[in-house]
Amino acid sequence: MKDTSLSTLLCILFVATSASSGCNSTPPVLTEEIAPGIYRIKVSRSNVYLLAGENLVLIDTGMKGEGKAILQAIKSIGRKPGEVSHILITHAHIDHTGSLAFLKQATGAKVVASVKEIDYVSGLKKTWTMGREGFGGKVFKIMLWFMETFPFKYEPASVDFPCKDGDVLECFGKVNVIETPGHSIGSVSYYLPDRKIIFIGDALSGVPEPKFPPRAGCSDYQQALRSVKIIAALNFSTCCFGHGNPIKDRADTVIRKLILAAGAPSVR
Ligand SMILES: [Zn+2]
Repeated sequence: MKDTSLSTLLCILFVATSASSGCNSTPPVLTEEIAPGIYRIKVSRSNVYLLAGENLVLIDTGMKGEGKAILQAIKSIGRKPGEVSHILITHAHIDHTGSLAFLKQATGAKVVASVKEIDYVSGLKKTWTMGREGFGGKVFKIMLWFMETFPFKYEPASVDFPCKDGDVLECFGKVNVIETPGHSIGSVSYYLPDRKIIFIGDALSGVPEPKFPPRAGCSDYQQALRSVKIIAALNFSTCCFGHGNPIKDRADTVIRKLILAAGAPSVR
């Protein structure tokens, strides 16, 4: 559970900036069906998920400038952008909300986000001002200020349905809202118990193996670790991360082992 090094943070900035410089580029998109009707859309550095049933649901929206690529991905499976009924936001960092305003406008979808992060999504507060731990976190905030002020200026979007822990959304069967804060103050996970699949945003990283979120990227690292235990106590087979490859088999066991390997107390 080491802190993220400055060089890693610089790498993140470089990759994020170079991947979508100019904001109008259309980065390559990989659309992978990770479970029946559930697709991973890999944009420049984060994942967007598309749930395709009678209606469509998006989870997160990538960086600014990636909305057109996400619409292309929707069309590539023979569906229409106007079928997107809801956009669920895991947390308000710009690599998850950057194309929200574009996609809300393009689809007419209703936006669901944590009640604790409405001010950031709707633009009342700047997302770069969200807490980050330690010296690395302060450096990260300066980088984010630059990114959100210049190449990735955030375009606010209104939140139609503020959500909180215990809410059950009726948009793709039953979607349970699980509050998993720590990476950001209002991070939430979306859990589909019937499908045994969970979307956890950046509560854990899946690049390339699951690991704890970097301390400098967290608003409260200890709280983030407690949230990992909340996730690990659930019953799911597939875990979908904001970054990196999903775990598609016995994901809950994999995360429990990660906790044990780190020396944290067992969740069961
Ligand atoms: Zn994040």
